[in-house]
Amino acid sequence: MSTEISLLGAAEIREIANKLELRPAKSLGQNFVIDGNSCQKIVRVAGVTAEDLVLEIGPGLGSLSLAIIQAGAKLIAVEIDNRLSAELASTLTTHNCPNESFEIINKDALSVDELKNLPTKLVANLPYNVSVPVLLHILAKFPSINSGVVMVQTEVAERLAAKSGSKIYGIPSAKAAWWADLSLGGTISRSVFWPMPNVDSSLVKFQRHKPLGSESERIHTFTIIDQAFSQRRKMLRSVLADLCGGNSQAETILNSIGIDPTLRGEALNVADFLEISKALTKN
Ligand code: SAM
Repeated sequence: MSTEISLLGAAEIREIANKLELRPAKSLGQNFVIDGNSCQKIVRVAGVTAEDLVLEIGPGLGSLSLAIIQAGAKLIAVEIDNRLSAELASTLTTHNCPNESFEIINKDALSVDELKNLPTKLVANLPYNVSVPVLLHILAKFPSINSGVVMVQTEVAERLAAKSGSKIYGIPSAKAAWWADLSLGGTISRSVFWPMPNVDSSLVKFQRHKPLGSESERIHTFTIIDQAFSQRRKMLRSVLADLCGGNSQAETILNSIGIDPTLRGEALNVADFLEISKALTKN
């Protein structure tokens, strides 16, 4: 009979932190969740089941990791901080997680390009300073991840989930949409973190869709997205002039695919950017 997996609470987090003489590093976005209910909410929104192999970036002291394993899933946890990754196995074992239910990797998530076992979901409270690059990196490298939930700063969450035409739509929104459909999944109060951050946090859900194009098309499309948003106020024909060989060439290319050259980047969705990329490659 399996013993029940318990979650971490504020007192135990304080205890582990004291034992490690841990001073949470701002540079690593170390704000730990001290409330088990919030972790269970994240896991519920992500729809984690016993069939899942979940990739968690930044397990920290293990709050969310325990909720993931409690839901019956297996876990691959990638943590950059040596002290935290060294302590995690003992925390998970103490809370009754079987040894075979988790794998801990002490690495920078941005340098993880392959894994022995292929994860099915991403569930993470991402470090705020690198949340967008980490999410884009994981979506690019692990096509086996079909869906997931990440907790990020609310402003970033809103940007990631924004659709073309909205004022906050930008590079993260357009790029993430290459791989997945993203939507907001609710807010998490700042009072459930230690230390308490001075920003609000929100969940972003994603569901991977069919690939829009090849990897080389993606890379070229991303260059165009970067360029299109480099000067938000400028019209596409002038902001894309360098890539197209001049203003009038840019105008001709955009007209040829039915995109109004006087629009701005924020009016285009990722499929439009891909069309520009294809038209440019033909020229
Ligand atoms: N999951 C834990 C929780 O919810 O309590 C901790 C989340 S905390 C916001 C972010 C975690 O990511 C920290 O443990 C930090 O050390 C780790 N981290 C920061 N940068 C990282 C990176 N590039 N790769 C992997 N982990 C990272």
